[in-house]
Amino acid sequence: MARAPLIDGHGRTIGDLRLSVTDRCNFRCQYCMPAEGLPWLDREEVLHFEEIERLVALFAELGIRDVRLTGGEPLVRRDFPRLVSMLSPLVDDLAITTNGFLLERDAEALVRAGATRFNVSIDSLQRDRFFEMTRRDALPRVLKGLETLAAFPEAHPIKVNAVAVRGFTEQEALPFARFAREHPYQIRFIEFMPLDADRTWSPEQVLTGEELRAAIHAVYPLEPEPREAHATARVYRFADGQGHIGFINPVSEPFCGDCNRIRLTADGKLRTCLFSLNETDLRAPLRSGATDDELEQVIRDAVWRKELKHHVNDPGFIQPARSMSAIGG
Ligand code: SAM
Ligand code: SF4
Repeated sequence: MARAPLIDGHGRTIGDLRLSVTDRCNFRCQYCMPAEGLPWLDREEVLHFEEIERLVALFAELGIRDVRLTGGEPLVRRDFPRLVSMLSPLVDDLAITTNGFLLERDAEALVRAGATRFNVSIDSLQRDRFFEMTRRDALPRVLKGLETLAAFPEAHPIKVNAVAVRGFTEQEALPFARFAREHPYQIRFIEFMPLDADRTWSPEQVLTGEELRAAIHAVYPLEPEPREAHATARVYRFADGQGHIGFINPVSEPFCGDCNRIRLTADGKLRTCLFSLNETDLRAPLRSGATDDELEQVIRDAVWRKELKHHVNDPGFIQPARSMSAIGG
């Protein structure tokens, strides 16, 4: 049954859901999690596959045809490819964001299950620096996973995301530019956002996309591609035609104006912005027997209140209680 599209109070139509399947992770990236990890959700708190399937089917009826599965690390959720195969028939695009550690094991199963797009997070192409940032000595394994995935034509185009932190990522700009030119991957730098569990973020630590773009352009000239509606990345092509590179600049150039995204945490809380201070519980109504019409009303009311913009650059900005791995980035 088709239902009316989901529209927020600022006139934006919602078409994209970021769905976290677990808050757990096998990495401890400095900008995301503390070295000792976080208190994990109990198993019963996390939505079951059937609950996720029901919600995604309802969201699809409400016009959400793009779903991205994330976490925590989605590949650590047991039987994850089975969840992918349950969800892929329901939507047009089923994407996965992963740190790549388990991709060598799972790439084939995920492609076969119907995942259509992949983002692999890699912050450095140097083993010791990768270790420093993720607190795991895992670069060779992640690159192997990426290669395993790249062998499947259905998995392309593959995006590789690097968080840009001042004092660290400057040295990565040219190696990643060369990597983008030599491989069929689109590299994208993401500005460091105040969603780290350690709460050490400061504006000075944000290495802006424009600084990285200028550094790369000086060596490998870049030409802008037109921005697609709702896009998070500013994409450039290398002027000599060899590959693309993108910059996701949520801090220095916010793209809230045409944001069409909502998020669902692993424990079933709907968030209408990465930086939301309020969440809407879908798990309780789901588990107490709500009908689809009743769930639709809860979702519609929450979406109507979607934030106009984030306030990262405003005085008095309040960092949300949940950090990135517990939200689902
Ligand atoms: N574990 C998976 C991964 O790392 O790809 C999926 C979840 S992770 C939270 C999703 C994305 O958020 C990753 O690309 C990660 O680098 C990014 N991220 C995490 N913390 C961030 C922060 N404070 N600022 C900007 N990006 C962040
Ligand atoms: Fe784990 Fe991804 Fe957070 Fe790194 S960014 S700690 S891989 S959830």
